[in-house]
Amino acid sequence: MAQSSGIFLCGQPLATCLETIRGFHGWEAPGLVLGLLMVDWARERIGARVEADALVETRHCLPDAVQLFTPCTVGNGWLKVLDWDQFALTLYDRHTRQGQRVWVDLAKAAAFPDLTNWFLRRVPKASLPLERLNAAILAAGRRALSAAAVELRQHHQRHKKGPTAVCPRCGEAYAARLGPLCPACSGAGYWRPAMDRANPGHEAPDDHHPHQARP
Ligand SMILES: [Zn+2]
Repeated sequence: MAQSSGIFLCGQPLATCLETIRGFHGWEAPGLVLGLLMVDWARERIGARVEADALVETRHCLPDAVQLFTPCTVGNGWLKVLDWDQFALTLYDRHTRQGQRVWVDLAKAAAFPDLTNWFLRRVPKASLPLERLNAAILAAGRRALSAAAVELRQHHQRHKKGPTAVCPRCGEAYAARLGPLCPACSGAGYWRPAMDRANPGHEAPDDHHPHQARP
C-alpha cells in the first residue's frame, strides 16, 4: 500500500503531503492527490537546479497542487492556468523554454478502474469511498501517468505588470492599457451597486459606489 512510510513526494514524506492537502482543502481531495503525484514527477524530471515556472491545462485541482508543492503561484506569476480541462501540467525553464509535461494517460490508467471511473466521472461519488479512491490513485502512482520533454511555443514569458493609471471618475488605480477610465466606469464592470434589501428600489446605503454615481 502506497501510504506506507518511506515514500517521499515533492521532497516530503507522503503523510506530510496529504496533511498539506487536508490543511488547504479541508479534506483529501483526490484531484490534489493525483496532482501531487504529477507535480512530483515533473519536479524530478526537470531537476532541482531549474527554477521552474509552471503551466497547467485545467482550472480544476491542478493549479492548487502546483501552488502547494512548488514555489509557483498565480499570484507570483510563475503559474499560468489554461482552461482546457486537460489534466496535464508542464514545469519549464522560461529562459530555455525547455520543459517536462506530465499528464493522465488514459490507456495506462485503464488498468486502475477506480481511478479511471472517478476521473471520467463514470460512477456516482457515493459509490466510490474517498479512502478507496485515494488508495487507488496512490497505488497507481506514475503507472497511470505519462511524461515527456517539451519545448514551449508560447506562454513561456512571465507577464510583467504594465503601467498603472488612476481613474479620473472613481479614483481607483487600474491597468492603464484598459483605456482612459477603469472598466467599471467605462461600462465593462461585472457588478452594480446592490439594492437595499430593507428598502427595495434604493441602493444599499452602507457603501459609496462612485463608479456608478448618478450625475
Ligand atoms: Zn473608475
